[in-house]
Amino acid sequence: MTTDASLDLSPLRAALRGHALAPGDDGWDAARQAWNLAADLRPAAVVYAEEAAEIAATMRFAGERGLRVAMQGTGHGAPALGDLSDTLLLKTQRMAAVEIDPARRVARAQAGALWGDVAVSAGRHGLAALHGSSPDVGVVGYTLGGGLSWLARRHGLASSKVVAFEVVTADGAQRRVTADADADLFWALRGGGGAFALVTAIEFELLPLAEAFAGTIAWPGERGAELLAAWREWTATLPDATTSSFRWLQLPPLPEVPEPLRGRPTVAITAVHDGPATEADALLASLRALGGATLDRFAVLPAPALCHINGDPEQPTPAFGDHALLSALDDAAAAALSAAAGPEAGHPLVGVELRHLGGALGRAPRDAGALAWIDGEQLLFAFGIPMGPDGGVAIRSALDGVLAAVAPVRSGSVLNFADTPVETASAFDAETWRRLQQVKAAVDPGDLIRSNRPVPPA
Ligand SMILES: Cc1cc2nc3c(=O)[nH]c(=O)nc-3n(C[C@H](O)[C@H](O)[C@H](O)COP(=O)(O)OP(=O)(O)OC[C@H]3O[C@@H](n4cnc5c(N)ncnc54)[C@H](O)[C@@H]3O)c2cc1C
Repeated sequence: MTTDASLDLSPLRAALRGHALAPGDDGWDAARQAWNLAADLRPAAVVYAEEAAEIAATMRFAGERGLRVAMQGTGHGAPALGDLSDTLLLKTQRMAAVEIDPARRVARAQAGALWGDVAVSAGRHGLAALHGSSPDVGVVGYTLGGGLSWLARRHGLASSKVVAFEVVTADGAQRRVTADADADLFWALRGGGGAFALVTAIEFELLPLAEAFAGTIAWPGERGAELLAAWREWTATLPDATTSSFRWLQLPPLPEVPEPLRGRPTVAITAVHDGPATEADALLASLRALGGATLDRFAVLPAPALCHINGDPEQPTPAFGDHALLSALDDAAAAALSAAAGPEAGHPLVGVELRHLGGALGRAPRDAGALAWIDGEQLLFAFGIPMGPDGGVAIRSALDGVLAAVAPVRSGSVLNFADTPVETASAFDAETWRRLQQVKAAVDPGDLIRSNRPVPPA
């Protein structure tokens, strides 16, 4: 296998309008930097692609030298990539165009497009996409992992809306992959992760949704156990049109944090209701009746604003997190989680979040994609921001405490939320995993396409 010391990039550079850097080149440290600043990536080279043909040229260059290729839109998922010493890191951020076809209600996003740009472009036509909680997550990376949005309980996973993937396969060929052309690869790309092909663009259906009722209600952190019980009762009554989360937050005292939450332990319920505001006000009544809220910001928002309601960091950030899919939080697990996640635990975590699943997420046709449905009631995600060389140790220990609390009801993984390397198989049933390995063997037998969710060829 070629290593960076012997790698001559000049034939590749000649094929690129973008550029390629090797270790030691000017700009190397900026080039290997990911959105997640905690990731320390050391690839054999970094390539900036500007068009699909350059991605194909990079794949062929790598294949001829026994090197591998890892795609990166933003680097949100970078901490799980692992050792890249035999890998070209192919950055797609210069391929960020978004086109909306309002008549067909379809968007086409290039490999490096961000959800915030899709949301704004679609919003101009009264349309919306199944994006997640952050505007600067990449459309392609998110969708390859399924994609859990604020509208998930009504509309399912983002991957279920994909019409076509434009890809480069491990042999360097460009292909358009749809349900009718390359059906097996189409199935694998819808939720199976980025190990199967280099996606150069993606086409997906949009929803006719101009606005939605959404916001956050928050209380002092010490009321966590009581509020978690109330959220569990509340979510049991909700229609599919309402998707919500429950969070313990310890946000830093920064000006961009809403004043009531700044520097104070808080518990918050954030929700989106894809239905009339009158209906939503009635739905919120039981939460408001609990009294003592320090913040109550619900309103009818234009659909593009849904990207921002979670207050996720919108700039590169060092973050260290972990997650668990939960079959259903019972009383014992809820009590243990409240103790581990609440302010009395004295942990350094910034957020511990439960997302309410169910609804359409549990009903999708089982073979609609590698990840077509999610079999669990809640998804737990927790993270901290490491400060200083030992910061990660305290965060890891707190994450372990939170995960131990829910261990009795843990039912699996959802790869989009796995910040650390996990067994990719843990997110799939045995039959789906076997089929994913068979597709990998058919399209990339030499395992040249490197993902943060590895799938060994069968
Ligand atoms: C602040 C924050 C909020 C989030 N909110 C949500 C949420 O609400 N719902 C949710 O489902 N997820 C959420 N995520 C998780 C996110 O969806 C995943 O981390 C996703 O993989 C990020 O994709 P990316 O392209 O931005 O990241 P990258 O690190 O660039 O990509 C991640 C992986 O995707 C694959 N990939 C990316 N581009 C391509 C390509 N062009 N071709 C082939 N493979 C490719 C690669 O395997 C790569 O390793 C969130 C993450 C963060 C940090």
